Amino acid sequence: MTPRVPPSRPASRTLPSRESYAPVARVVPSRSAREVAESVLDPELPVLTLADLGVLRDVTEHDDRVVVTITPTYSGCPALDEMRRDLRASLRDAGYPDVEVRTVLAPAWTTDWISDAGRRTLAEHGIAPPARIGPRPAGPVPLNLTPPPSRVHCPHCGSADTVELSRFAATACKALRRCESCREPFEHVKEL
Ligand SMILES: [Zn+2]
Repeated sequence: MTPRVPPSRPASRTLPSRESYAPVARVVPSRSAREVAESVLDPELPVLTLADLGVLRDVTEHDDRVVVTITPTYSGCPALDEMRRDLRASLRDAGYPDVEVRTVLAPAWTTDWISDAGRRTLAEHGIAPPARIGPRPAGPVPLNLTPPPSRVHCPHCGSADTVELSRFAATACKALRRCESCREPFEHVKEL
């Protein structure tokens, strides 16, 4: 009597054999993995791509595997899981089914990493970009609980006469402000 054998599976990932996998209609990539990863939108600031935001550290391709290294905007940021999911989904749809997303926490991301293009995009969407803070000493980053002294310009009229209405807007990374000149409320990406 022949013993019953469970359906065979690939014995080892180190010995890939295309024949051992069920045939899947594979999308032939038309863009590099880096281009795809760079174009993924940030879950918290969906007008910005991950490239604009400066969170993409590295994108490498080893055979069929893509390794994306990111530095999340805030440690413990709830958007991190979403960012990972979006990266995997976008790369899979673009023809890169095997994706590993690694996170690197040091050096810590700061709002200074948001590109000039990203700052323009924020302003175009009525969101005041963060002021540039400049290099900071290494070591623990002090947590600022008081609003920074920098002036925040209204993204609608450019006036610097703006007041903070709420430290937290729709997402923790933004504050809600109002312009005293044009009276329009707007969101401000807080400096970090
Ligand atoms: Zn204004």
